[in-house]
Amino acid sequence: MTKSFFKPYKIKVIEPIKILSRAEREEQIRAAGYNVFNLQAEDIYIDLLTDSGTGAMSQAQWSALMSGDESYAGSRSFALFDTAVRDIFGFNYILPTHQGRAAENILFSSLVKRGDVVPNNMHFDTTRANILANGGKPVDLVIDEAFDPHLDHPFKGNMDIDKLTSLIVEKGVARIPLIMLTITNNSGGGQPVSLANIQAVSAVARRHKIPFFIDACRFAENTLFIREREEGYAEKEPIEIAGAIFALADGATMSAKKDGLANIGGFLAMNDDSIFEQARERLILMEGFPSYGGLAGRDLAVIAHGLYEALDIHYLQDRIGQTRFLGERLKKNGIPIVEPIGGHAVYIDAKAFLPDLPQAQFPALTITIELYKEGGIRAAEVGSVMFAHQDQSGKEVYPPLELVRLAIPRRVYTEYHLEEVVRAARAITVRKGDLTGYRIIEGEGPLRHFIARFAPCV
Ligand SMILES: *Cc1c(COP(=O)(O)O)cnc(C)c1O
Repeated sequence: MTKSFFKPYKIKVIEPIKILSRAEREEQIRAAGYNVFNLQAEDIYIDLLTDSGTGAMSQAQWSALMSGDESYAGSRSFALFDTAVRDIFGFNYILPTHQGRAAENILFSSLVKRGDVVPNNMHFDTTRANILANGGKPVDLVIDEAFDPHLDHPFKGNMDIDKLTSLIVEKGVARIPLIMLTITNNSGGGQPVSLANIQAVSAVARRHKIPFFIDACRFAENTLFIREREEGYAEKEPIEIAGAIFALADGATMSAKKDGLANIGGFLAMNDDSIFEQARERLILMEGFPSYGGLAGRDLAVIAHGLYEALDIHYLQDRIGQTRFLGERLKKNGIPIVEPIGGHAVYIDAKAFLPDLPQAQFPALTITIELYKEGGIRAAEVGSVMFAHQDQSGKEVYPPLELVRLAIPRRVYTEYHLEEVVRAARAITVRKGDLTGYRIIEGEGPLRHFIARFAPCV
């Protein structure tokens, strides 16, 4: 085992898991319409569906749950949350929301008008769907290197600045209500964005007076990559790097279920008074009063602790170290993965793994189904089920990347569990010539991956 990081915690509470027989798993996945979102969690051995809200809390966070202040207004827990977010992010206004997507909807419904265009390095699925739902058009402007899953580049999440300036010239500033940047780039393999690139995006936004918002879900993980890979930051604390990042932006959307190390929560933060006033009105309508925003006081207290814990250097090295451990072990066993290995997840390159299966038959979905049958492992499809769509002439357009995401919950599994994932993937390799794909029999729209049902193509 290649492992050189220090594990900065020991286990105090355990949750039992069980493993079904292969025959039982085959029955469960068939009954689930071959969509792993429809499986019961108790029928899963190792759940790598998402790292969102699935982490283990610290003793400080569990204690904060008990001392949460549930007052409707003026709660002590809100003050704790507000102070932590201000300290780390530095924005003037902070609105708690029940999740990241609520922050997105409040922001976009305040700023985006029909026909507007919103650039991002790569939109996450809920971000894309929220822009579309508000009449806007999401545009992905990540550097071309991001689309070559085997090319080594330290910051594959970077925005292509030429593409951004061309888009502004083509559409005009009036059609671009904001520029977004997702750190790290979840939909593109969990790849980081460099501080130099964030500076460059910020400079373009300021030159054109376009608000610049960061999708900050994995900002802490992004700070570790900057520290490791960008010149001049090796000695900087993650919290200092975070301060440098957010000083360049006008606001942020955040899911506390990621680098808030919480099981629920999020926020919208910004500097601009007029955006804040619109957003606050919508928050009260959709989420709740601005001092709780759809959360309990105890949740706010948990997030206040979680944000600092996520910036602890030993936590980050262990976290990213586990992801690298899984990625390197898969690679060593001949399973093609996206490289370099990102922050929160390892992505199997399904096109390279199953080169004979056309995208119309969902190769990434096929691998997620096989991982469950083989080892009770739940992974997420990040390919044609999630991103294929019809163009104006009704022709099906497939995404350039066809990936299976193995997202690692924070502080939950050991390296031993991750070895089991490697074993299951290796077993698929042996049988891959026999695999047939799947067809969709139910479910449509930009969020169909959550609800669709499938049947084998035989
Ligand atoms: C999870 C996520 C979101 C949405 O957050 P939720 O809390 O799931 O609503 C937005 N952007 C990115 C990059 C994410 O990973």
